[in-house]
Amino acid sequence: MSAVVNSWIAFCELKHRKTPLLDFIVPLAEALMASGKLNAQYQRRRGTGLLSKTSRSLLNDGDHLPVTTKTRRRCSKSAQQKKKSRTKIMCTMCNVPLSNNCFKLYHS
Ligand SMILES: [Zn+2]
Ligand SMILES: [Zn+2]
Repeated sequence: MSAVVNSWIAFCELKHRKTPLLDFIVPLAEALMASGKLNAQYQRRRGTGLLSKTSRSLLNDGDHLPVTTKTRRRCSKSAQQKKKSRTKIMCTMCNVPLSNNCFKLYHS
């Protein structure tokens, strides 16, 4: 649980505002449970924080937060364009898998 709280604190700092803990945990937990690797994910990323450098650079003004999951899934933006692309990244807010390239596109 402390890993989640640490992530939440990092998230609040990143956003320069306070987000109710539950508002952060619920979509995050759902996203991670969807990937089926909730615990493994937390264990592995512990200490380094939730967001990778790449993920950070992808952040927009919104609350759409990319997380790296353990399973590769079809990027839904690419799928819309009838392209096949697999990604481990997904948006916690939209709850859809998105490749690195498509993350910004999908939200613009
Ligand atoms: Zn894509
Ligand atoms: Zn999103």
